[in-house]
Amino acid sequence: MIPYGRQAITEADIAAVVAVLRSDLITQGPVVPRFEAAVAGYCGAAHGVAVASGTAALHLACLALGLGPGDRLWTSPISFVASANCGLSCGAEVDFVDIDPATRNLSVPALEAKLADAARTGRLPKVLVPVHFAGRSCAMAAIGALARRHGVRVVEDACHALGGRDHGDPVGACRHSDAAVFSFHPVKSITTGEGGMIVTNHAALAGRAARLRNHGITRDPAEMAEPAPGPWYYEQRELGLHARMTDLQAALGLSQLTRLDAAIARRAALAGRYDRALAALPLIRPTPAPGVDSAHHLYVVEVEEDAIGRTRGEVFAALRDRGIGVNVHYIPIHLQPVYRARGFGPGACPAAEAYYRRALTLPLYPGLGDDEQDQVIAALAAVCAAPGRHAGG
Ligand SMILES: *Cc1c(COP(=O)(O)O)cnc(C)c1O
Repeated sequence: MIPYGRQAITEADIAAVVAVLRSDLITQGPVVPRFEAAVAGYCGAAHGVAVASGTAALHLACLALGLGPGDRLWTSPISFVASANCGLSCGAEVDFVDIDPATRNLSVPALEAKLADAARTGRLPKVLVPVHFAGRSCAMAAIGALARRHGVRVVEDACHALGGRDHGDPVGACRHSDAAVFSFHPVKSITTGEGGMIVTNHAALAGRAARLRNHGITRDPAEMAEPAPGPWYYEQRELGLHARMTDLQAALGLSQLTRLDAAIARRAALAGRYDRALAALPLIRPTPAPGVDSAHHLYVVEVEEDAIGRTRGEVFAALRDRGIGVNVHYIPIHLQPVYRARGFGPGACPAAEAYYRRALTLPLYPGLGDDEQDQVIAALAAVCAAPGRHAGG
């Protein structure tokens, strides 16, 4: 089966991890801070806080911004559940801004209208989490301006987008946001096995997130309520999590980072090959993104069921039968049972729901060979051409 995404591990990556294994410190040693500085430097952000996962990064960024009970968090329904769960994990209420079908990111006009409405009724969110779906940055200048107008904090869910750019700024530069969050899961731009990072230009936010990833504990005398009675002393200032990254993971990440630009270039080349090869098929392809250099995390087509004479589910099954590991990104978050139990249901985000009914993710990762991609394209062409519901018609 050709998977939809997978990691690329080199001998240099393996050697980097082995070197840490042979060292004295395998967890809180010197490599985590080096990885933090390297990722923040790559993005042009002042601070990086490495954590155990992208999910932990979202949760900790929200906690560090003070999100809590009585507050609201808004995000896009077309994302992984973690984009919304960070709100619930902080005890806040979650709501969704429907997508723009062309970009598949949250719709800026829908956001503007919803913010105006919420301002009138006193129900503004404390935190907005725009998601750079499939690696394509949201329109951050416009989103940042709206958020500032209403006093809303912005945490970019950039888990798909490390290595991408928005009007010249690397994703993660945080020019129009309070923080951005990355995941280093194996299918993402670079991997640490599991892992994540918060990048921000706010020193206080970075400091609080770093403390919260370690139970809320500080060893900095300047942050203590009591004078330290001795060098053993630490204080827990607030309730945090254990969400640290290890030096083993950071070593893998540092090694992977040296190949990030090459990996994105390969992803872009593969996406271009799909664009050209699929142009004649009854599929909606990703639209061009003026001013944005996508990180090409996912390549999602929308199946035109009437033209093909097959449902998306049938196309999905036929491709899996041919060894093509297609997937679906994403089931709208508000249709998950956890969110239905909170009052959401079909009709809450019509554009997201219409997109979901047609969406199909094709294999895309740096190690995908041209020959393998040609197999995917040939299988898709065959499935689109094979007689379906309209057979013999
Ligand atoms: C992968 C991902 C996450 C969560 O990252 P983990 O490292 O798996 O916890 C969050 N949001 C989006 C959009 C993701 O793709």
